[in-house]
Parts: sequence; structure tokens; C-alpha cells
Amino acid sequence: MREYAIAAIPADGIGPEVIAAGITVLASLEKRLGDIKFNIENFDWGSDYYKKYGVMMPSDGLNQLKKFDAIYFGAVGAPDVPDHITLWGLRLPICQGFDQYANVRPTRILPGITPPLRNCGPGDLDWVIVRENSEGEYSGHGGRAHKGLPEEVGTEVAIFTRVGVTRIMRYAFKLAQARPRKFLTVVTKSNAQRHGMVMWDEIAAEVAEEFPDVTWDKMLVDAMTVRMTLNPRSLDTIVATNLHADILSDLAGALAGSLGVAPTANIDPERRYPSMFEPIHGSAFDITGKGIANPVATFWTAVQMLDHLGETDASARLMRAVERVTGAGILTPDIGGTATTKEVTEAVVDAIYSSNS
Ligand code: NAD
Ligand code: MN
Repeated sequence: MREYAIAAIPADGIGPEVIAAGITVLASLEKRLGDIKFNIENFDWGSDYYKKYGVMMPSDGLNQLKKFDAIYFGAVGAPDVPDHITLWGLRLPICQGFDQYANVRPTRILPGITPPLRNCGPGDLDWVIVRENSEGEYSGHGGRAHKGLPEEVGTEVAIFTRVGVTRIMRYAFKLAQARPRKFLTVVTKSNAQRHGMVMWDEIAAEVAEEFPDVTWDKMLVDAMTVRMTLNPRSLDTIVATNLHADILSDLAGALAGSLGVAPTANIDPERRYPSMFEPIHGSAFDITGKGIANPVATFWTAVQMLDHLGETDASARLMRAVERVTGAGILTPDIGGTATTKEVTEAVVDAIYSSNS
């Protein structure tokens, strides 16, 4: 029996609904396969915790998480707590504290889902976006002077280090190399931003030398949105900064049908710390408690988690089960269906039990 310790942090809004669905599906995999076990511990951190204790998680939170093999995360965000508190109080400290510097966002159009682009259907869009997850525009550096006065100045400083850019570039080239097309697109804004962004381009060229079998090209981020929309087949693996990839991957999620199906993994490639797996979407308070949250992104990120744990048979089974269910038209309202979270979850569980391989 292979056992894994998983820390579940459902947090806010629809987070608890989709994480509960994910845990149900993991339990069915356990039963179906018989040789793996997930020891899941639940953490009640998030906005409700904040309202009680004034912090999103306890001060020794990271220490508590350290011993786990992976973190399964829902979403943060509440209507009555400022977004910078929820984000900087829980999700970002985990990403940064555990040096999860590679944020990996696969995008594909799943069977049964009608994407918004008329030039593109299932099979036409198959990307992995690699987002630099530890520095750049979200390094937290900056400040405000003369607060509230007419002469107020606010700065938001993007920090790029040679170590940080080189390691994400290596990760992206390696990932591109492992995919059939062996093709990487490096995104920057090195025409208008002429320091850190030019360094990105230079480091990309240096790292490319280590991967002679990978073809690569460069895009400016604004032109990249056009290429993603008009020529999606021309892309495969994509690497971009923290901010650029944040925006591009929301676009990618929408182009694939809905944010409700888009997963993400925050990886520490060196495996010094647990990595964290989550849906891309937020807490979606407009649909919280209605039972219609799409659990597919949370299932798909479980696929990423299983892959990271080396459980590739389980991950492939889960992905096939999800694709059978979407392909059968069992979809939540955000992707044009009428099914509830529970119905989609039960259908995936059935698909796991009834599959032979
Ligand atoms: P959101 O992703 O929560 O919702 C955007 C829209 O997509 C909403 O209409 C929502 O109903 C829909 N949606 C999202 N996930 C869905 C799902 N699984 N099934 C069906 N529909 C889904 O983004 P928002 O509304 O901009 O933000 C709400 C809160 O979430 C804010 O507080 C924001 O800061 C936070 N947020 C958190 C994360 C995170 O935890 N990683 C990411 C983005 C936003
Ligand atoms: Mn985002």
C-alpha cells in the first residue's frame, strides 16, 4: 500500500464544495485501485478563520503543512474581507514559503465542451502555461508615499533575478521537451520594459542551448493574446512572468470553455516542500451554496497532484473518467449544462468504478 498525506485547505466560497467533490473522487480511486491510500487532513483556514482570529492561518501554519506530501487547495476570497488580505494571508505565503516557483496550468478543450472560439474545437487547443510563481510583479515590493495627498506616489516593483528566471526557464524547456511537439513560446514585454524583460529574453536564449531538441520562439504579451485567440494551434508550451501568465492563463481557461475546468499546480520542482494543487478560479461567491460549482478544475488538479506523486496510473484513470463524463454531456451550468456539482461528482465516481483500465 502506498500512502500519501494530503493537507486539504478548502477555504472560502465554493472552495469547500469543490474540494469535498475532489475528496470523494480520490476516495473512489482508492477503492477502485486498492493499493493507494490518501490520508487527508482538513484545515479550516480562510476568511471565516480570519474573522474569528484576525489571521487567515495560524502563525505556525507552514510548519504544520511541511510534513504533507501535497496540499489540495480550494479558493480564497470573501465579500467582506479585502482581497489583498485573503490572498497575501494564505495562498501566497504557502506558494512563497514553500518556494513553489513553477505554476503549471494545462489547458485543453475537454470532450463535450463547446468553446467560445468558432475556429477551434476539442483537440485543437492543447497548451501548458508555465507561470513564474515566486518573484516578478508579485514580489510584494513597492510602497506608497504621501498617502491620500494629491502628490501621492505608489510603486509596484517587479523583481527578476537570474536564479529565478533561469530555474523557471529550465523547468519550461524540460516540460516542453517531454511533450510531443517539443515547442516552447517565451512571453515577455521586452519592447516597453527594457531591464528585467530583456534579461528574460537573454536567459531564454542561454537555457535554450541546453535543450537543442526543443524549438522555441518569443512573443510580446499583448500580441500573445491575439495569437492565442486567432491561431491556438500554433502554441504548445508557454512560459511567462507571474503577472503575464496570470492573465494569459485566465484567457486560456475561458478559451477552453470556462474557468470552472481550469486547473493549476504550484510546484516545488526540487521537492524540498509539499507542492500545492488548486483550481484556477476563485471563491465565486455569486454561486456559493447553490450546489452548481463546476468540480472539473478541482478533479483535473487532482490529476496533476497524482502525477506529481508518481501515481500515473491513477491520474490517467481520473482524467479519462472526467473526459467520459464531460463527453457524455454531464456538465454544470457554467459550461452549458444543467447538472449539479453532486451529479457530476457521482458520474465521475461511476466512471472510475466501471472503467477496466
Ligand atoms: P471567480 O473565479 O471566483 O469567479 C469568476 C466567475 O466565474 C464567477 O461568475 C463565478 O461564478 C464563475 N466561476 C468560477 N469558478 C467556477 C466554478 N468552479 N463553477 C462555475 N462557475 C465558476 O473570480 P472573481 O469573481 O473575480 O473573484 C471572487 C473572489 O475570489 C475574489 O475575492 C477573488 O479575490 C478571489 N479569487 C481567488 C483566487 C484563488 O483563490 N486562487 C483566484 C481568483 C480569484
Ligand atoms: Mn489569477
